[in-house]
Amino acid sequence: MSYDPSNIFGKILRGELPAHKVYEDETALVMMDIFPQSRGHTLIIPRAPSRNLLDADPAALAGVMPLVQRVARAAKAATGADGIRLAQFNEAPAGQTVFHLHFHVIPVYEGVPLAAHAGGKADDADLSELAKAIAAAL
Ligand code: AMP
Repeated sequence: MSYDPSNIFGKILRGELPAHKVYEDETALVMMDIFPQSRGHTLIIPRAPSRNLLDADPAALAGVMPLVQRVARAAKAATGADGIRLAQFNEAPAGQTVFHLHFHVIPVYEGVPLAAHAGGKADDADLSELAKAIAAAL
């Protein structure tokens, strides 16, 4: 299957839809997941168009991974989480719901189970606060 630019992250990257942005540069956008699996669930979206890992340009992958690490460190520092889960899904049977490559940084809190993947919507004010806190820790 080929990349379809009408996906929701494509629209956010083009500024056609709003997002709780944490950071952006010429290679990627970082934003809060609005249906978070935990407090501070953040997404890193490379600008280079690909459906997922399987069709991504290796150079784009190599370029974005240092940012994934920075966001993981910042999310941990900003939330006080005990650990960070990094997730990335490829094609619908594997759990992918938005078909533009992205990485999930999911803070994990000792003894607190993660919410369902793409479950309930978070409060916008909370997401805005978290976006600011993670941006400050980057
Ligand atoms: P995946 O299942 O890996 O494709 O993940 C897509 C993620 O995007 C899910 O965790 C959703 O909660 C999240 N999501 C969907 N729509 C939006 C949106 N408009 N803004 C932020 N996150 C979103």
